[in-house]
Amino acid sequence: MQVWKFGGTSVGKPERMHSIRTLITADSGRKIVVLSALSGTTNALISMGESAKANNDAEVQEKIDALKAHYDAFIKELYSTEESLKKGQAIVDNEFNFIRSVLKSRPFTLKQDKELVAQGEIMSTQLFQGYLEEQGESSVLLPALDFMRIDTDGEPELETIEALLGDMLDHQTDKQLIITQGFICRNPRGEVDNLKRGGSDYTASLIGGAIRAEEIQIWTDIDGMHNNDPRIVKRTFPIRELTFEEAAELAYFGAKILHPSTITPAKMRGVPVRLKNTMEPQAFGTLIATTTTDREIKAIAAKDGLTAIYIHSTRMLNAYGFLRRVFEIFEKYKTPVDMITTSEVSVSVTIDNDTNLAEITAELSEIADLEEHDRDLSIICIVGDFKADKEGIALKVFEAMKHIPIRMISYGASEHNLSILVWSKDKAEALNVLNERLFYYEDAMKNIFTAQ
Ligand code: ADP
Ligand code: ASP
Ligand code: MG
Repeated sequence: MQVWKFGGTSVGKPERMHSIRTLITADSGRKIVVLSALSGTTNALISMGESAKANNDAEVQEKIDALKAHYDAFIKELYSTEESLKKGQAIVDNEFNFIRSVLKSRPFTLKQDKELVAQGEIMSTQLFQGYLEEQGESSVLLPALDFMRIDTDGEPELETIEALLGDMLDHQTDKQLIITQGFICRNPRGEVDNLKRGGSDYTASLIGGAIRAEEIQIWTDIDGMHNNDPRIVKRTFPIRELTFEEAAELAYFGAKILHPSTITPAKMRGVPVRLKNTMEPQAFGTLIATTTTDREIKAIAAKDGLTAIYIHSTRMLNAYGFLRRVFEIFEKYKTPVDMITTSEVSVSVTIDNDTNLAEITAELSEIADLEEHDRDLSIICIVGDFKADKEGIALKVFEAMKHIPIRMISYGASEHNLSILVWSKDKAEALNVLNERLFYYEDAMKNIFTAQ
């Protein structure tokens, strides 16, 4: 069995839903199809929640009306029979009644907010399944809220997911197409929750790992993982193959095409992940698996919103106990550290979640001297096959970045990653100069010499 996930733009227009049906029925293989909300819907729901929190009823109403009009028009183009349209309209009316009632809750709490944002995926899957039914395709809708579970830290509970989903699938052996929602889940209090923005990729991978799928396919609006961020860099190209480790580094360090945690469950179970373009299904895309045959430097990604904390050991402590005590403080506040550099008496770290920064700083100050934090930093992450015997990679990187101030460097922790911390204002320039130097310079040189 395979797991195919379609993102927001892939379901965002009626004609896209039509082509998804063609894609998923082109072969007879059994599939679990994970859908995101229609593009723009999650943002619209979040924005309604913000207006509700601000008690701005008129604004809430306006936003509901605008989104409802979008769905009313959508279903008119999605379905071709009166009967299906009637059913589709009932789904939309019903969902919007629910949305309206949730938005009336006062106070409007996080619990309501999460119920609200879940409606995007709940609607897209119902509408799509209605369309499959209209077209005579046999399918079943498995509600993700019945099997997707997270723990108190917001992390998926793999064993529970596997047991619940396995049981549900055992009852559906006659169905070739199983539709479910990405992104949404339940927390230990039984409330509706989610896997954070972009979380449908993670759902697909969790399901793929749980059922030990043959393959997980992530269908989106681009022909695979590119060597650099196509939103910022001019000349980018798709990478044919990546290892799990390389893809995980790129996703974690900001390649938006994948939710940061997507690779973990797939890698744990050795399930290959293929990235494909819904608009161009014949394009190869990217295959993420155990080994690759591709080039040395694979890709570059960037992660924004980092804060650097500079910590100097005070003399009272023995050097060997210092790092442990520092990291215990980050652990206590459940704050992951992205990057670390050390010297004899100092350690600098970056974090992207500064919710508990004040508490962390206060506790660190008891064991160390702190310099003022720097904010608005970005990590540039260069990913590839950097075994120790590969020469010259660092030289190329720093040559390209010679005009850009660097705050921290991390190299050698893994064979796949060289990370550099820069000011976010310099990120676009850094990505572009690195792109030219690492992916085009050698070819350009070769052409000059062969031309002579
Ligand atoms: P979906 O809605 O299908 O989940 P996303 O918008 O989350 O799609 O992810 C696809 C987008 O990711 C692309 O349109 C592209 O702009 C962006 N992106 C950022 N970095 C990369 C990269 N390295 N390779 C490919 N796409 C990238
Ligand atoms: N709809 C959710 C979001 O916009 C999840 C996803 O698209 O992956 O974040
Ligand atoms: Mg996405």
